[in-house]
Amino acid sequence: MEKREQLYEGKAKKVFATDDPELLIVSYKDDATAFNGLKKGTISGKGVINNRMSNLLMQMLEKSGIPTHFVEELSERETLVKKVSIVPLEVIIRNIAAGSFSKRYGRDEGEVFSAPTIEFSYKNDELGDPLLNEYHAIALGLATKEEIETIKRYAFETNRLLKAFWAECGITLVDFKLEFGKISDGSIVLADEISPDTCRLWDSKTGEKLDKDRFRRDLGGTEEAYAEVMKRLTEHI
Ligand code: ADP
Ligand code: UDP
Repeated sequence: MEKREQLYEGKAKKVFATDDPELLIVSYKDDATAFNGLKKGTISGKGVINNRMSNLLMQMLEKSGIPTHFVEELSERETLVKKVSIVPLEVIIRNIAAGSFSKRYGRDEGEVFSAPTIEFSYKNDELGDPLLNEYHAIALGLATKEEIETIKRYAFETNRLLKAFWAECGITLVDFKLEFGKISDGSIVLADEISPDTCRLWDSKTGEKLDKDRFRRDLGGTEEAYAEVMKRLTEHI
């Protein structure tokens, strides 16, 4: 597999073309941003951890029937993935109130929901990723009704599988963001990444935050938290 030109540089990853038009290489960086790019920094070693973790979790999901973009881990920071046309929605599943949900609805962080919730944001940095509902997504032509049904099914099933896995690691899955895309035959697959950048993960016993909130909120110990999550994952997978 030959690596070709860089197609895109995002906030956390670079994307490269390959000699196969249906495959891409993603390269994970240590760069971290928060608050729509207003806060910038580096989490040393993050790219290596997120690459590995996302690949291990996607392989686990794939085995349980969730189609993903994962093809092959190429190196510490680089992975071969199926090229998708990204559905421009950030799909957020929540089990416990935190972050923007707590702020928006005036609820304490840590309130456990009786059932998981889902919400969608329009993936558009200029507009600040505004919240929208399924009807808005269809009206804006971002996805069809059928695609949204598939995305919801995969997202809730992913939550069920990841929640159970992290529980075995002594970690509570609070919330997370997924991105989906369409491969060349038009079918929907899980894309982008699953990592402490995109999930809230709390130590089940102490409640300690083991995710990007350490960076967002200047709590310190961010590198150590990412390493701890990775250690527990490799002990249990
Ligand atoms: P951002 O664009 O938000 O700054 P990243 O730095 O993570 O995010 O950049 C990775 C980009 O690649 C994102 O825009 C993401 O939607 C996109 N992407 C992820 N997986 C795939 C894929 N399999 N095919 C095409 N694009 C992808
Ligand atoms: N999230 C993400 N990318 C985004 C927005 C949110 O990965 O652009 C993740 C975030 O890490 C958390 C979940 O989605 O696990 C819910 O985030 P929330 O809406 O509470 O937003 P935040 O508090 O991060 O602004």
